[in-house]
Amino acid sequence: MAASSKDVLIGGGGPVGLLCALLLGRQGIPVRVFDNNKEPQDDPRAATTHPATLELLHHDGLAEDMARVGLVAPIFQFWDRPSGQKIAEFDHAVLAGDTSFPYVVQCEQFKTAKLILERLKSLANVTVMFEHEVVDVRDAADGVTVTVRAADGVKTFDGAYLIGADGGRSVVRKKSDIAFEGFTYPERFIVLTTPFDFQRERGYCYRSYFADPDEWCNCFKVSADGPPGLWRTVFPADPSKSEEELMSDAAVQERLQRFFPAPKPYEVVHRNLYVAHQRVAAVFRKGHVLLAGDAAHVNNPIGGMGLNGGIQDAANLCEKLAAVMLHGAPERDLDLYALQRRTVAVEFVQQQSIANKKRLEARDPAQREQNFRELREMAADPARARQFLLRTSMIASQRRAAAMTLDVQLERSM
Ligand SMILES: Cc1cc2nc3c(=O)[nH]c(=O)nc-3n(C[C@H](O)[C@H](O)[C@H](O)COP(=O)(O)OP(=O)(O)OC[C@H]3O[C@@H](n4cnc5c(N)ncnc54)[C@H](O)[C@@H]3O)c2cc1C
Repeated sequence: MAASSKDVLIGGGGPVGLLCALLLGRQGIPVRVFDNNKEPQDDPRAATTHPATLELLHHDGLAEDMARVGLVAPIFQFWDRPSGQKIAEFDHAVLAGDTSFPYVVQCEQFKTAKLILERLKSLANVTVMFEHEVVDVRDAADGVTVTVRAADGVKTFDGAYLIGADGGRSVVRKKSDIAFEGFTYPERFIVLTTPFDFQRERGYCYRSYFADPDEWCNCFKVSADGPPGLWRTVFPADPSKSEEELMSDAAVQERLQRFFPAPKPYEVVHRNLYVAHQRVAAVFRKGHVLLAGDAAHVNNPIGGMGLNGGIQDAANLCEKLAAVMLHGAPERDLDLYALQRRTVAVEFVQQQSIANKKRLEARDPAQREQNFRELREMAADPARARQFLLRTSMIASQRRAAAMTLDVQLERSM
């Protein structure tokens, strides 16, 4: 039965699953997306969209629409929280020769998902089924079958391929027996969102990172429903405390007042707690099942690379999958997807996000001093600043992925 189906099935209608639907649907491939929610979730997760990702979202104006509903942020800063000193400031302008987007766009991920959903409405060959939960996957020689649970019962759908874009707890990944290797941090990450204007009151730019041996912090601005926008602060949360203790009004006020004392209690519009992991799927392709986004890799949010990596997966995968399905490219190209994207997930995103966290939480005074010196020296030297920003903006990893071929893997494994 599956052999007759030319559909691409997608488990998960988050930004990565929806983008895959758009990239394939635009080429005329029939696509069916299943998502267990009613609509895109508006919890405060990804916002920072890096230059390398904006380039991929440029061609039908998605990057420009994201900038319109978000904020353009060319600069980011590092601060020493205990002394209140600004350590270094980096301006993406040094990347002007490397990208047409020498800045990040702060666009909340549910807005990105909604912009993609709008575009999907004009594609009759794409069906998005909200409130449909993937519960099982059966891969066979001639295609793949997905079992889905909805209010009106359990149904099965056949497809030529299945993209698992159903997030970190991916059922597609689990039902395909693909290990998710790595570790989970003992501390959770607490996100507190407030309209308190940290730029006006304190001089923080739209992306500011605070090193502190006791409690690092990230502070970001998002546009929310429009000016003046909101500020998100991210802190590590004591693993010995319960969610109730961490999220109580008193604890939240105390945390924010400790970060920056204010004359009045903070207005807190969101408070969220996240478990953070560093994990990568053992393989990104198994038969007709392909993993992308958080289903394939998860990392801590410092540096804002998780969704960026997922969007880069989607662009890489859909280009190859469309070539296989429409233009007779060899199926082996899907292994190249898996190789390119898994390699950068391991060698770049995992390493960089772990290093970012270590830099902010370093306790040893000599190590802290060395970190600060390195940041200052890089910021003062345009050539070094460019190299640093090529990594943070994910241009270097995109170049690395593009340069990889399957022959390289064969040579390595010999
Ligand atoms: C505090 C925080 C801040 C972050 N900031 C950034 C940032 O600035 N930049 C960045 O790049 N990344 C950031 N991230 C990471 C980013 O949020 C994720 O990488 C991103 O959500 C991944 O998108 P996705 O579409 O792969 O998965 P998800 O967004 O998790 O979407 C998966 C979808 O699948 C659905 N689903 C799950 N299971 C099933 C099922 N069985 N059947 C059907 N549907 C299912 C879910 O409901 C969901 O809609 C941040 C994360 C956190 C926690």
